[in-house]
Amino acid sequence: MKQELQQLSSRIEEIFQYLHTHPEVSWQEYETTDYIFNLLQQEGFHPIRFEHCPGLYVDIGQGEPFVGLRADMDALWQEVNGIWKANHSCGHDGHMTMAIGALLLLKELPAFPGTIRVFFQPAEEKAGGALKVLEEGIIDPLSYLFGVHVRPIQEIDDGHYSPALFHGATCTLEGKVIGEEAHAARPHLGQNAIEIGAAIVQSLSLIHHDPMVPASYKMTKFHAGGEASNVIPGKAEFSIDVRAQENEVMGSILKQLKYQIDRIAEVYNVTILLEETGGIVAANVHPQAQGILAQAIAQAVGPEYLTPAIHTPGGEDFHYYGVKRPRLKTAMLGLGCGVTPGLHHPYMTFNHERLFTGIEILTKALLLALQQAQLEGAEEYVRISSGETVNNRRAI
Ligand SMILES: [Zn+2]
Ligand SMILES: [Zn+2]
Repeated sequence: MKQELQQLSSRIEEIFQYLHTHPEVSWQEYETTDYIFNLLQQEGFHPIRFEHCPGLYVDIGQGEPFVGLRADMDALWQEVNGIWKANHSCGHDGHMTMAIGALLLLKELPAFPGTIRVFFQPAEEKAGGALKVLEEGIIDPLSYLFGVHVRPIQEIDDGHYSPALFHGATCTLEGKVIGEEAHAARPHLGQNAIEIGAAIVQSLSLIHHDPMVPASYKMTKFHAGGEASNVIPGKAEFSIDVRAQENEVMGSILKQLKYQIDRIAEVYNVTILLEETGGIVAANVHPQAQGILAQAIAQAVGPEYLTPAIHTPGGEDFHYYGVKRPRLKTAMLGLGCGVTPGLHHPYMTFNHERLFTGIEILTKALLLALQQAQLEGAEEYVRISSGETVNNRRAI
């Protein structure tokens, strides 16, 4: 595999340079889609564009089982050298290069049983791209799905690789207090939205969660009152930012928080509206998918460069695939490639040599996953033929 990869090296470097110098922001990745579509077509693949958003997918191989690789495509809009522009400072140009590289490498390798589906997803930075791709229906036949993200130097050393990234869950709540205003001299005729805000802040301390799971819930915005200091404001707007390293803990915190706020509304005799306006699920890493990535890392570079799973703040919409399709086994490769000064920094840079290692690890992982999925398929066949009832293998 290393020899075939070596032969592709200048082509891969050229692909990275193109993608790096043609960044597009979330939901606007049309030229990027065209570039990848044309490149793959010229290489003899049969790529298919997504129907309802930018992005595309392509299959290599034939028949069942299906395993997949996802690359995200979008760049960030930020100021670089005094000019506002789209900029690939999250390394998605590298992720696309590795996905294309894996396809080019697979083409050079002996035929394998089953199908590898590689897809290019829009709008990861807006956390909506994965949900849109799920609507396209292309995930449903997959047994395993891998993703990859370049990692900053603060998290993992250059040339080291992690078989799983555990991102946390986040949720933004926007709230409105709707009560009666009153003259400051007659407070009993209305409700004081500021006191209600204070009660909400106090109620956050009544929330209990598993102390072994990092979590945070803080009021981050509160607006009440106007020009006049002799009016008791009856209305207010506020935001609460909730974070938890696990989806179950996030669910429990949100349930408790909503319960407390409903009680406060009752006590103060006001309406409090609460809406989830943003957020992302936490990682739903499958141990078997993680195990396959670990095996692929050990085979490609040796076990001494395999690091433990990384627990990292921030979000990643890749995890929607595993959460929304619970039978799909997912894991993300953490690529130690010396990202400096950091992800999303306008002058972010990394060691491009690691793209080749990334291609090798991901290609090995996809082939190992096919073998594993075949074994699982055979076991299931035995169970079905022996009269046992099992759920449909395809996630619904
Ligand atoms: Zn990012
Ligand atoms: Zn990213």
